[in-house]
Amino acid sequence: MSTVPASAPSANLTSVPSASPQAAVVHKRRVIFWFLAAIVIIHLTVPLAFLPYTFVWWGILALLIGNFIFGSIGINLGFHRMLTHTAAKFPRPLERLWVLCGVCSMEGSPLWWVCTHRMHHQHSDEEGDPHSPQDDFYWGHMGWIYTADPRRNSLDTYAKYVPDLMSDKFLRWLHRGEKWLWVWAAHVVLLTAIGFGLGFAFFSTTADAVQFGVQWFLWVVIVRTVYVWHITWLVNSASHRWGYRSYGTNDGSRNNWFVALLTNGEGWHNNHHATPRACSQGHRWWEIDLTYTFVRALQKVGLAWDVVPVKVPKHIREADASDQGLKPPATSGDPVRGSEES
Ligand SMILES: [Zn+2]
Ligand SMILES: [Zn+2]
Repeated sequence: MSTVPASAPSANLTSVPSASPQAAVVHKRRVIFWFLAAIVIIHLTVPLAFLPYTFVWWGILALLIGNFIFGSIGINLGFHRMLTHTAAKFPRPLERLWVLCGVCSMEGSPLWWVCTHRMHHQHSDEEGDPHSPQDDFYWGHMGWIYTADPRRNSLDTYAKYVPDLMSDKFLRWLHRGEKWLWVWAAHVVLLTAIGFGLGFAFFSTTADAVQFGVQWFLWVVIVRTVYVWHITWLVNSASHRWGYRSYGTNDGSRNNWFVALLTNGEGWHNNHHATPRACSQGHRWWEIDLTYTFVRALQKVGLAWDVVPVKVPKHIREADASDQGLKPPATSGDPVRGSEES
């Protein structure tokens, strides 16, 4: 699964493409300095949450709840399973809400994220994969994120990989002019205001109220954002390097229980590459996938439908799953939806 505003300057969908989509590999690695600076600054803020003045145990709980809302519902379900793979459908207001939760994780515009991830599925661990960790773990984890990739400045690339989403005015609005960043900033202001509001509502002294507001800001906004970043990136890096393989996919994908635990289900990544459209990424009873559990709960009350079942293609199911992957690619599949089940 992919992440952040790689090279943040996302394509202006009204402009003529300037770069060739044939640039299958990023030959010259040009750093996007403003985005790297933002990542560094936000990371440097994290230690402030562990000072005696700011550390609170409820911060851990807030982090886990925030991860479920913005990471699991926003990124796993909204950006990944719903937009990228159309693994389930929801009432339109809920679909918009999932997308907004994903935007609040500061992982790029939905169009950019989906485009990147579909490129990953089509070229997984071969030339053209935006973030394979096979040669360089750091590159696959986060180096690629602040590195320009001319392919994703090209309208042709978007037309090829996200044609089904290009007609969505809301998604286009978020993408053009990096408006998703403003939405993210607005959510930071709103959450911070809520924190200070709660502080002044429940504490009798200004000093205590301010302390609560600062603690809330650090744990609910900063630590949560960095946490969701890294666990998302671990799916790209660790789950393509370490873990077991249940299926003989043509890539290095692995089922990594630790990443699955952190991400509420996305770490069962070999399962996912074997059957990208399936809504559930846990294929065995003990491969817990809380993101899917959430969808099942919505389905029970009629708020989710067309939930795509697990149906692994025969040629993948019967392949020798004890191999290390990275076999010569057989089929690249549909760039829009990945390989279809058969
Ligand atoms: Zn995927
Ligand atoms: Zn992958």
